[in-house]
Amino acid sequence: MIRRPERVVLATKNADKVVEMTAVLAAAVPGLEVVDGGEWPDVPETGATLEENALLKAAAVVEATGHAAIADDTGLEVDALDGRPGVHTARFAGPDATYAENRARMLAELEGVADRAARFRTVVALACPGGVTVTVEGVLEGSIATSERGEHGFGYDPIFEVGGRTLAEIPETEKNRISHRARALGALATLLAEPPPSR
Ligand code: IMP
Repeated sequence: MIRRPERVVLATKNADKVVEMTAVLAAAVPGLEVVDGGEWPDVPETGATLEENALLKAAAVVEATGHAAIADDTGLEVDALDGRPGVHTARFAGPDATYAENRARMLAELEGVADRAARFRTVVALACPGGVTVTVEGVLEGSIATSERGEHGFGYDPIFEVGGRTLAEIPETEKNRISHRARALGALATLLAEPPPSR
C-alpha cells in the first residue's frame, strides 16, 4: 500500500482521456481531488515499454507542478501482427497520424485476416513528490472489427469489438466500467491507503 495523495494532476494533454480518467477516478477513488496542474512541457514518449512511458510522463509532471501525478500509456496488441503496434500504437500510421489514419492502417493490415484477436493494455503510473511511484496494469480483450462502427469514444474505439459491439457503440458510462484504463485505475485504487486526516 502507498499513502493516497489528497490531490493529483492528470499527466495528459489528451482531452478525451482527461474526461474518461476523471470519471473513472471519481468512482474508483472517492474523495481524491483531480486538480489542474497548469502548464508543463510535452514529454516525449521515448520509453521502450508502456511502463517506462507512463513513469516518464508522471515524473515529469510531478517535477513541473509539484503535485502528485497520474499518467497512463496504452498499447493495442494484435495477435495476427505479433503484438504490434503495442508501444507504438499512437504512431501506427506515422509520427503525426490522426486517429482516423491509425484506424485505416489497422483495417488495411488486417484485410482478409481471419484471426482478429487483440487487446488494449494500459499501464497507469502514480508518481508523488518525494519520489514514491507505483505502476499498475489493466487489460481489455477483444478483436478488431472489419469496418468502423459507432459514434462514441476516441482513437481505435470504432474498430475495437468487445462482445459483438465496438467500444464506439457502447455508451461512455459503460466503457468506463470495463475499459483497460478503468481496470488499471481500479487496480491503483486498491493500492492506495487512506490519506492522513486534513489539518
Ligand atoms: P497513448 O496512451 O495516449 O499513447 O495512446 C496510444 C494510442 O492508443 C493512441 O492512438 C490512442 O488514441 C489510442 N488509445 C488509447 N486509449 C484508447 C481507448 O480507450 N480507446 C481507443 N483508442 C485508445
